[in-house]
Amino acid sequence: MHLQISLSGALALRATAALLLIGLLTACGFGSDPGEDDGLDTTVIMISIDGFGSEYLDRIKPPNISRLAAEGVHAPGGMIPVFPSLTFPNHYSLATGLYPENNGIVSNTMFDPQTGKSFRIGNREAVEDPIWWGGEPIWVTAELQGQTAGAFFWVGTEAPVKGIQPTYWKRFDASVPGKDRIDEVLRWLDLPDGERPTLINLYFGEVDHVGHEAGPFAQETSEAVLQIDAYIGRLLDGLRARSIEDEVNLIIVSDHGMSQLSAERVIALDDYISLDDVNIIHTGPVTMLTPLEGKKEAVLVALRGAHPNFRVFAREEMPERYHFRAHYRIPEVIVILDDGWTMFRERERMERYRSRVTGATHGFDNFELSMRALFVAHGPAFKSGYEIEPFENIHIYELVARILGLEPAPNDGDPAVLRPILKR
Ligand SMILES: [Zn+2]
Repeated sequence: MHLQISLSGALALRATAALLLIGLLTACGFGSDPGEDDGLDTTVIMISIDGFGSEYLDRIKPPNISRLAAEGVHAPGGMIPVFPSLTFPNHYSLATGLYPENNGIVSNTMFDPQTGKSFRIGNREAVEDPIWWGGEPIWVTAELQGQTAGAFFWVGTEAPVKGIQPTYWKRFDASVPGKDRIDEVLRWLDLPDGERPTLINLYFGEVDHVGHEAGPFAQETSEAVLQIDAYIGRLLDGLRARSIEDEVNLIIVSDHGMSQLSAERVIALDDYISLDDVNIIHTGPVTMLTPLEGKKEAVLVALRGAHPNFRVFAREEMPERYHFRAHYRIPEVIVILDDGWTMFRERERMERYRSRVTGATHGFDNFELSMRALFVAHGPAFKSGYEIEPFENIHIYELVARILGLEPAPNDGDPAVLRPILKR
């Protein structure tokens, strides 16, 4: 810890120096100032680029993210999302270090049999209702241990978890320009010691939106990646202008990849079962059903081996590697489609709309290569030019806790997995 007076004094001086002398300092080769002991408290900025498939990095080569990857740490084979490879489960597993079966966010759409409540990602009341959110997200760990957290959008930050939200948080609004998000984060970093967050979470959704519409290999998707990369460039410029680019730890991740769909790879659920026998909790690459009373066995029998491009499991039969059994919100029957296939509820609708199945999606088996997520880390905590083999995203919580000097809450991660990427 530092004395507040010396730190704010140094910061004021530093800001002035940055404004007046940035060109000169750069020209003279001044970067970090290792002799000084009054820098920022250890700071982590976690950035999520929704739907950024790990292979985008090598193929699209966004300049800023690529430089951070080359100079810091990255996973060339990507990071393994949790099952199901959907947005809400993955962001919340990144935050808590818990598999969905242990944090309660088991899908983007859920039904809670204990309360009778339903959850949809667009339902503000549900998203802000603490009953859904289990475990302890990293911003709660930080706040509980005396640090300050700020989030410009992250799944889970809009509800109090253990009664706590980040000190700074925003209600999700996809229309807020990326540039404004970056500028607000930079304003948080300008706050005086004690108010300045040491943990910042930041989210961008465009790469996912465009990827769904146009597919992972479309020019539009590459353009969306380059647009987000430019926002990250703006952040880096802002850090440089404050002479803190070597003091901030950046962890850039995505929640899942993206897989191309086709009108030739569609399945109609009502070809196999009567929709009157089930409540359909979620439809798509992973389809989750709650059979009505007494119908479970018949539904399972009808679906088993019914089509070569899906597998069906009763919840209790789910293979261990999915970690998708324990939570009472997990529906009783889970259908997992092969990569690139999609499910319609009814054949009639499938025939009507199959020609529109031209985009891409996610939600498939989390071990499919197409679902691999981005992982890039850069900053004083991390080794330089280090590559790590694919790892599961539940290890990120332990990583951030360690960097910030926080005592982690119980979680499913193993601190040894990402230990090798740290300098010490
Ligand atoms: Zn997503």
